[in-house]
Amino acid sequence: EPSGGPAPTTLPAGSPADSAVAADGMEQAPEQITATVSVVNPLGLHARPVAALIRALSDRDVEVRIGRPGGPSVDLRSVLRVVALALRGGDVVEITAGGRDAALTTAALTALITGGFGEAERPAGRRPAVGMGVPPARMGNAPAARRPLDGTAPTLKNGSLAASAGAPGLAIGPLVRLDRAPVQITGNGSGSANLDVDGEKSALTIAIDATAGRLAHGNEFEVAHAALLGDPELRSDALRRLDQGGTTAAAAWWSAVGAMADSLAADPDELVAARAVDVREAGTAVLAEFGVVVDRIPLDLAGKVVFADDLGPGEVPVLVERGAVGVVLSRGSATAHAVIVARGLGLPMALRAGDALGTIAPGTPVILDGDTGLLTVDPTPEEADRVTSLISDQAAGEVARRAAAQGSVRLADGREVLVVANIGSLADARAAVSAGADGVGLLRTELLVLDRDTYPDEDAQTDDLQAIFEVLGDRPIVVRVLDAGGDKPVTALALDAEHNGFLGVRGLRYLLAHPDLLQAQLRAICRAGLGHRVSVMAPMVTIAAEVVAFRSAVDRAVQSLVDEGIGHRPPEKVGVMIEVPAAALAADEICAVSDFVSVGSNDLTSYTMAADRTLAGVAELLDPGSTALQRLLDQLCSFALAAGTPVAVCGEIAGMAEFAIGLVDRGVHELSVAPARIPFVKELLRGQRG
Ligand code: PEP
Ligand code: MG
Repeated sequence: EPSGGPAPTTLPAGSPADSAVAADGMEQAPEQITATVSVVNPLGLHARPVAALIRALSDRDVEVRIGRPGGPSVDLRSVLRVVALALRGGDVVEITAGGRDAALTTAALTALITGGFGEAERPAGRRPAVGMGVPPARMGNAPAARRPLDGTAPTLKNGSLAASAGAPGLAIGPLVRLDRAPVQITGNGSGSANLDVDGEKSALTIAIDATAGRLAHGNEFEVAHAALLGDPELRSDALRRLDQGGTTAAAAWWSAVGAMADSLAADPDELVAARAVDVREAGTAVLAEFGVVVDRIPLDLAGKVVFADDLGPGEVPVLVERGAVGVVLSRGSATAHAVIVARGLGLPMALRAGDALGTIAPGTPVILDGDTGLLTVDPTPEEADRVTSLISDQAAGEVARRAAAQGSVRLADGREVLVVANIGSLADARAAVSAGADGVGLLRTELLVLDRDTYPDEDAQTDDLQAIFEVLGDRPIVVRVLDAGGDKPVTALALDAEHNGFLGVRGLRYLLAHPDLLQAQLRAICRAGLGHRVSVMAPMVTIAAEVVAFRSAVDRAVQSLVDEGIGHRPPEKVGVMIEVPAAALAADEICAVSDFVSVGSNDLTSYTMAADRTLAGVAELLDPGSTALQRLLDQLCSFALAAGTPVAVCGEIAGMAEFAIGLVDRGVHELSVAPARIPFVKELLRGQRG
C-alpha cells in the first residue's frame, strides 16, 4: 500500500553543492545526483511507468540507475530489470543520475514518480486526493481480486471454480482454449541458406528500431512495448544468438524473446510475471517486420468464452472483434495490460484460474462472472437461462442509460445544465460522444503533447485538433491552451521542476513568457475550429491583467490568420480557469474581462489547502468539502452571477455525487466530467439517483 512516505529529496552524492563549481570557479557538471523518492501509485514501477521514466531521459546527456536505497541498482533503460525490482507503492526508490543533465533529469523523474503516473487508486479508508485525471468513476474501481492466500491455484469443485475477478460483467458460452505463442519460428528472415551474420544483425537492429519508433507513437501500452524493445539486454541476447551462426534474424530474435518471457513468467512476483506477455507481444511486432505473423487467435470466436494462459493488450481487441464474449486467464494479474484493456472494452474477464479448465473438453459451456471471478462449468439449463436473461437485461439497461444520457438536462426551475466532458485524447473524444456528452468543457491540450520528444508545430497541432473536433461535430468545445508545468512536465519543453513547478511559471504564466508557442497554438485552434463551435480557455490565471494579455494574444492570432488569408474560425468565447485562490477572491475583476469562467477545483483545492495534489502524505487535506473551499466557491459564484458571467466547473468535484447538486444550486450552468461519469451525473441532476 502506498504510504505518505517521505517527500522527494534531492541529495547530491559525494561532495554536494561544491561539485557544481570547481575550485577555479569554472562551472562543471555535477558528478552524480542522488534522489530518494516514494513511489505513490499502488502498482509501482511496472512496464508503463518505467516507459514513461525512460521517455523523460529522451536525448538528454545522462545515465540513470535506479534501485532501493542501499540495495543493488540497475540501468533505468533496462526496462525488464527495473520491472524485476518489483518496486511498489509505498516503496522508496533511489535514483542516481550522472552526466550534464543529471539535475534536470532527476527532477523530471522525481516529478513523474510522485505524480503517480495517472494511476489513481488510493489505499482503502483514505479520502481520495484531488489528482489530475482521477475520474471518480474509476476510483476504487479495481476489482477485489480474490487471490488464494497460499498462492495455490483454485480447483474445480462441484462444477465451480473460484478464480479472481478481472474485468466486470457476466458471460456465458462454450469454452475455447487459445494456443500458446509458438516456441520456435522458422522465419525466413532476410537471409538464405548461407546466412550473412552481419547482414542479419543489421536487419534485426533496423527491425527493432523501426518497430519501437512506430509503437512509440501509439497508445500507452504500445509506448510501454516500445520501451521494452529499447531494453539493451534483450537486444544483445538476440545479437549474441546470431553471432553463434546458423540462424535468421527473426528466429534469433524470437528465441531471445522467448527466453526473456520465460524467465519473467517464472518470477514469483505476479507483477513481474505478468510482463512476460508484454515481452512476447512487443517481440511479435518486430517479427512482423520480417513478414512473420504470429496470430494465435481463431478467426471465429462468436459467442465463445476464451481460456488462455495469458494475453497481450493488443490481443484483447482482436478477441472482441472476433466475437469472444468473455475471457478466463490461467495466470494474469489485475494489473496486466490486457485486463485494463478488457475493462475499457467491457469484456468480462476472470484471472488466475490455474490449469483446472485445461482438462475440460473444448466446447463445454461455462458461465463467467468477471466481478467475482466465479466460473461455473457445464451449468444446468435453468442456470444457463437465468444468466442469459440477466445478460440481456443488463445489455438493455446499458442501452437505455446511454440513450437517456444523450439528452440535455433541464432542472425543475427550467434552467438547462450542460453535462460535458473532460478529454485529453482522440479516444476520450469518442468516449465522450458515446457517453452522451453535451460537449467538451475541458480539452487538456498538454496531454496531447506530454510525452512527445519534439514539440509539434502549428500544422501538426491543427491536424491533431481537427481529428478531435471532427468526432465532436457541432457540440460546443472548450479548448484549454497548454497547461505545462506543475505535475505536467511536457518532455519536449524541458521544463525545470522548480522554476516551472506548482508555484512557478506554469500554465498561462508559461505561455505569456513564450508568446510564439501561444500564437502557434491559438492559430492551430482557430484553423481546426473551422466548422465547429470552439472556445478557448486559459489555465492558472491569477490576476485580471493576465486575462487581458491572453485576450490580446487571441486577437493577434486571429488577425494574423486574416492577414495571411488562412481559413479559420475565431473562438466563440474567451474564458479562464479559476484554480488559484487569488482569482477566486477577485473573481469580480476576472469576470469583468472574461466571457466565462471554469472552476478547476483540483488545483483550487490544492492551492487553497497548501497541499501538493500529487503527494499521498497530504491527501487528507485535499478535501473539496472543506469550509475554506466551499466559502471560496460561494464567493466566486456570487461574483460571477452579479457580473452575468457563466460559471462552469471542470475539476473532479463536478462529477462527485456529494457536490454536483450544490454547484448547480449556486448557479453553475455546466459540469465537465470524465466521459465515463456523464450518464451518472445526468441521472443525478435529473433526480434519478440519491
Ligand atoms: C483543475 O485543476 O481542477 C483542472 C481541471 O485542471 P487540471 O486537473 O488539468 O490541472
Ligand atoms: Mg488545474
